[in-house]
Amino acid sequence: TQTAEKFEFQAEVNQVLDLVIHSLYSNKEIFLRELISNASDACDKLRFEAIKNPALLGDELTIKVDFDSEAKTITISDNGIGMTRDEVISNIGTIANSGTKKYLESIAKKDRGEANLIGQFGVGFYASFIVAKEVELRTRKAGEDEAVCWKSDGKNAFTLEPVDKAGQGTEIILHLRDEEAEFADNFRLRSLIKKYSEHVAFPIKMLEVTYPEKDDEGNEIPAKTPEYEVVNDATALWKKAPADVSDEDYQAFYKQISNDFNEAAFWTHNHIEGTQSYSNLLYVPQKSPFGMFQNPEDREGLKLFIKRVFIMDAAKELLPNYLRFVKGVVDSNDLPLNVSREILQDNPLLKKIKSGLVKRVLGLLKKQSLDTEAYANFWKEFGDTLKEGVVEDFANREAVLKLLRFASTHNSDDTENVSLEDYLSRLQDKQEKIYYITGESHEAVKNSPHLELFRKEGVEVLLMHSRIDEWMMGHVQEFDGKKFQSVAKGKLDLGKKEDESKNEPSEADKTFLEKIKKHLEAHVSDVTASSRLVDSASCLVMDEDAMAIHMQKLMEQAGQ
Ligand code: ADP
Ligand code: MG
Repeated sequence: TQTAEKFEFQAEVNQVLDLVIHSLYSNKEIFLRELISNASDACDKLRFEAIKNPALLGDELTIKVDFDSEAKTITISDNGIGMTRDEVISNIGTIANSGTKKYLESIAKKDRGEANLIGQFGVGFYASFIVAKEVELRTRKAGEDEAVCWKSDGKNAFTLEPVDKAGQGTEIILHLRDEEAEFADNFRLRSLIKKYSEHVAFPIKMLEVTYPEKDDEGNEIPAKTPEYEVVNDATALWKKAPADVSDEDYQAFYKQISNDFNEAAFWTHNHIEGTQSYSNLLYVPQKSPFGMFQNPEDREGLKLFIKRVFIMDAAKELLPNYLRFVKGVVDSNDLPLNVSREILQDNPLLKKIKSGLVKRVLGLLKKQSLDTEAYANFWKEFGDTLKEGVVEDFANREAVLKLLRFASTHNSDDTENVSLEDYLSRLQDKQEKIYYITGESHEAVKNSPHLELFRKEGVEVLLMHSRIDEWMMGHVQEFDGKKFQSVAKGKLDLGKKEDESKNEPSEADKTFLEKIKKHLEAHVSDVTASSRLVDSASCLVMDEDAMAIHMQKLMEQAGQ
């Protein structure tokens, strides 16, 4: 027989191991969630491979959890896809999940205290070492004969050696540290499975508990041999009728698929029948996750299933960028099972699903917007992301515009709670435009001299100061038939009330204006008398087609 071969971990694996073990100490029970989630992924992958090669599908796909309280071991096994020796080396000896890696790197640089957050994210296989002093992984790839055993104490190195293993799949044996022996307990494990893995779509089984019984004469008869029983719910939650699913179930499922530590804010769950039949369960989180704005390209969060078979994370294919905060599951009955990502990209069936999902999400947000308080939180977290939709999603522009909330001169503070519909409901007599101002901060726009006349006339102005506002307003012309008009641009036109040309300056004023104009020649293109000011002596006005002041400043800052 061959002897074990020794390998060193990559340097970054050591870092991650160290970070995971130390920072998750207060949340150590998540090791089971992570290992079961890997087992479930392995079953998903097998089912996917079996589409091409049905011979791979043998027994019912199952995850088993066993323990030995005397030996202080816990064993998590699955009959999923398994791994070859090379795959073990590349998957277990390195950090596979690039998102996890980036995240861990970024918090490793920061305060250790923040590292407590990492329990929210998939920390993966290495979570085993929070409770285990040694981990043994035995695995056999589906369709292959050879199995391999990986062993490590989580300190710098691991060994690999060939091993005999009956079926396909993976078995992970945790040798618990003495102080963690309490986990090798029937009730503890069952409650952790219920808590974290209730909605894993494969059965998670444990041996039933049996007690010795007494016969009629009072003699003990030996307990019968225990059998495996299913501990979790094990159905695909998204396939159930919404009426049969409790809020607790929805929240638990959300945590399972999102790795979010917080509960979901709200969700929508539908079974759609028609030219396209599919189910969707879509969640909006409470908090904007880390990295949301840094890399919209490698977003995750929407899982595509076809007839309950997990196909891939397909966030980009299923929802446009501006709805990237949505998480959940879509299960199609009509897409062909053998789809690839390339095929998905321009599949007409998927396009239909995508536009249906967008309508669902916008509808959900509309419904939520009736609850002012809940919507305020959503707006704070995701409002700027949603604004991208005004530019990105022409077909739904009106619907997205209705969901926007602004600060306004109607409010006394910077609260963003004014919708465009609110604005229109307060239009003054003869007012034909939606007036807005953009700038660098709420303070700056609120105190702008451009607002003086509007205040005097009682005309509301929307106050915008987010970076994206300028860009957005450059793309949108009107809402509900009313044009948007920046108060800092071009001619002022408050209905017919006010007409600058009628304010023909006197000869003396004209001479005065000429003098100022000469003086400022290098800086301004014209100097005119204005009726737009009430208290201030002067203000800058942009030409109708010029970029707004703020944009110009931004460009200057960027060196253009
Ligand atoms: P992630 O699950 O985010 O990819 P993990 O650290 O949990 O990261 O797992 C790393 C990799 O190891 C997985 O991507 C998978 O390829 C492999 N792996 C882990 N557990 C199993 C298992 N039970 N069966 C097959 N492969 C597994
Ligand atoms: Mg994992």
